[in-house]
Amino acid sequence: MIRLHNFINGRFQAPASGQYLPNDSPANGQVYSEVPDSDQRDVEEAYQAAARAFQDWGRSSKQFRYEMLMRIADGIERRFDELAEAESKDNGKPLWLTREVDIPRASANFRFFATALLHFDAQVHSMEGQALNYTLRHPLGVVGCISPWNLPLYLFTWKIAPALAAGNCVIGKPSEVTPYTAYLLSEIVAEAGLPAGVLNIVHGLGGKVGQALSEHPGIPAISFTGGTATGAQIARTAAPMFKKLSLELGGKNPNIIFADANLDEAVRMSVRSSFLNQGQICLCGSRILVERSVYNEFRDRLVTEAKKIKVGHPSNPEVFMGAVVSKPHMEKILAKIETAKQEGGIVLCGGERVYPSGEAEGGYYVAPTLIENLSMDCSTNQEEIFGPVATLTPFDTEEEALALANSTRYGLAGSVWTENIHRAHRVAARLHSGFVWVNTWNLRDLRTPFGGMKDSGVGREGGFKSFDFFTEAQNVCVKIEGY
Ligand code: NDP
Repeated sequence: MIRLHNFINGRFQAPASGQYLPNDSPANGQVYSEVPDSDQRDVEEAYQAAARAFQDWGRSSKQFRYEMLMRIADGIERRFDELAEAESKDNGKPLWLTREVDIPRASANFRFFATALLHFDAQVHSMEGQALNYTLRHPLGVVGCISPWNLPLYLFTWKIAPALAAGNCVIGKPSEVTPYTAYLLSEIVAEAGLPAGVLNIVHGLGGKVGQALSEHPGIPAISFTGGTATGAQIARTAAPMFKKLSLELGGKNPNIIFADANLDEAVRMSVRSSFLNQGQICLCGSRILVERSVYNEFRDRLVTEAKKIKVGHPSNPEVFMGAVVSKPHMEKILAKIETAKQEGGIVLCGGERVYPSGEAEGGYYVAPTLIENLSMDCSTNQEEIFGPVATLTPFDTEEEALALANSTRYGLAGSVWTENIHRAHRVAARLHSGFVWVNTWNLRDLRTPFGGMKDSGVGREGGFKSFDFFTEAQNVCVKIEGY
């Protein structure tokens, strides 16, 4: 049994409660590690350490912070295989995926924000004949970074790296469902020689550790990625304290296929946007809207491809889909599929749990599921499922496609498939989504603003936007005689 520790003030330590939570591998349902069940006492200790460390880190040179972050990136790359295996075991996602996406992105996040830091600087606004304004950007102090289980190290580092680069000290709380790579990161950070207290990682439940971070009067900012209901809870707690909040929340993203699209590519990518990472990516296209003249052809081709998907143990390189993250989450997905049937949905493929044998026995596997014949206002099409489930709906006109696409409370991402350049731009601009792809999906440039509209979030991260969030702007206006 592996016992994980909190990382506070550069030390690995037990939680104040002395209690641990069991952590299983979704691939076989077996408990293999124990996670600290921390509470506000651990958060307070981390806060005190971070506040002390901020005295130096907040005033350190950009070059020093750059070098520290690059060393952490090097450490991630040195322990690449171990991290990839840990992420796959902890989350249930295929090993090939952690090797291709999760772990490379984690080190890329550190490199990206380390180098961006060197190019982020004060702005100057000259008032000719009168004065000069310059805008300083100060680090905030001790910030809280709370991340979800679907892309554990990838999203944890997406927050921590810019926060540290901007000169803040951090208390990070990974999801208690997938804590393993965050724990390994604390080892890497210690090996890299990051000064004690600059990054603290406190494991445990959202209701205890996450809540304590949101409530803490000394923490002026929380960067959170997770579900919309949790985001609302954090906002209720933190907003009256005037904390800065960056909330990256849920999605119910439209994937719009027009009749003139390159259907080969649209089918190929719709398999990925529906089922990659077992459909547990906030950007997944869970509502596929198809122009009626090609609806039957697209549907049949997509169903054929979905039926070819191999579901099984994450270490098998032929598997496209591994296990979903936990037993309760699997049960939630299966219940949502039952609701879809009650709402009149016709299950075209999947719709049930899968029971692979051998080393995957006892794991939490769900078949790739496509459903049609649902109205757009039913709960299946309105509420996030966050699993390998997508619905198909025909439309007749561009206006109708937009109305259907924009009809949910979410507004995270959308894809548009068409060869008509005018339509592509027109539809993209009218989608209520923070992120739109045309003829592709999930292609990301880390410099671009990332975040959701409506109930999908508040604020934007990515590139200098992350630095804007993790710093406080201060304008200094200097009157100049004879200027
Ligand atoms: P949750 O909202 O359940 O949890 C996210 C994090 O918040 C976890 O670390 C959780 O801890 C913690 N948390 C829970 N309750 C509180 C609280 N009261 N105060 C502070 N923190 C708390 O999300 P999931 O982990 O289930 O992740 C899936 C969700 O994340 C989906 O809705 C998905 O759409 C969204 N997401 C959004 C993305 C985006 O960029 N917009 C990207 C990826 C995912 P614990 O695990 O212990 O409950």
